[in-house]
Parts: sequence; C-alpha cells; structure tokens
Amino acid sequence: MNDAFAFPYPIPEYGAEAYWAACNEERLVMQRCAACGKFRWHPSPLCTHCSDERFTWAPLSGRGKITTWTVITHPVHPAAVTRVPYVVAQIELDEQPGLNLISNLIDVDPDRIAFDAPVAVTFVTHPAGQKLPMFRLAR
Ligand SMILES: [Zn+2]
Repeated sequence: MNDAFAFPYPIPEYGAEAYWAACNEERLVMQRCAACGKFRWHPSPLCTHCSDERFTWAPLSGRGKITTWTVITHPVHPAAVTRVPYVVAQIELDEQPGLNLISNLIDVDPDRIAFDAPVAVTFVTHPAGQKLPMFRLAR
C-alpha cells in the first residue's frame, strides 16, 4: 500500500465544504461574520463572537506568524514512518488576533523555527486529490 494514500486527510463535512473547495483552488478562506465582521475558525453555524448566523466566505492573505509548534519524531500512524520528523504548528493569521490555524510547516529546519516567525501559506496536494494548506517560513 502506498503510505501517502494511507496518510489521513480531512473529509469535507457539513459547514466546511466551501473551505476545502477553496483550498483546491489554492485560496485560503474563512467564514467572516456579516454582523461583527470577525473571522471565525472552525466553520460554525453561529458567530463565536456575537452569535449571528450570517456570514460570507472571505479570502485571507495566507500570511501569519508561528505562535507554537511541535516537531513530530515518533510516527504514531504507520503512514508517518517515512515522514518523520515533521512539524505541526499553530499559525496566528494576520487578519485577526487569535485567529489560529493548526497546520504543518514544510521545507523547514526545525532548529530554525522561532516564536512569531512570519509564515506564508502554500498548498500541498494529498495523493487522494485534496489540496491541504501548509505553511513555509516567509522570506
Ligand atoms: Zn459576529
């Protein structure tokens, strides 16, 4: 079995279909409340700030900073055996304080990662076809 196919990937579910469809177009979008204007993550039927139901899918710059990270060295999933070490990071997106996305940092030496380091989104295609938002250190 191809380990890349076995590596888990997200299955779009209710409320997140537009997010994953935009990723497949290499666009990062999130719900933006039509009442208070704040972004929210994860997709939700109600604004997490003001409880309004109305929203649009608004584009994001794809830029942010590293607020925390971990280097995975032990493959807890069989498909990760050939991928370790890899980096999982929390990215605070530039559009809003506290708007955090958990993702992978790629093409990075783990020793060069620092708090508040600027990053930019890139999209990596899973062998099953879904494009996944990941981040690289910004230059
Ligand atoms: Zn709101």
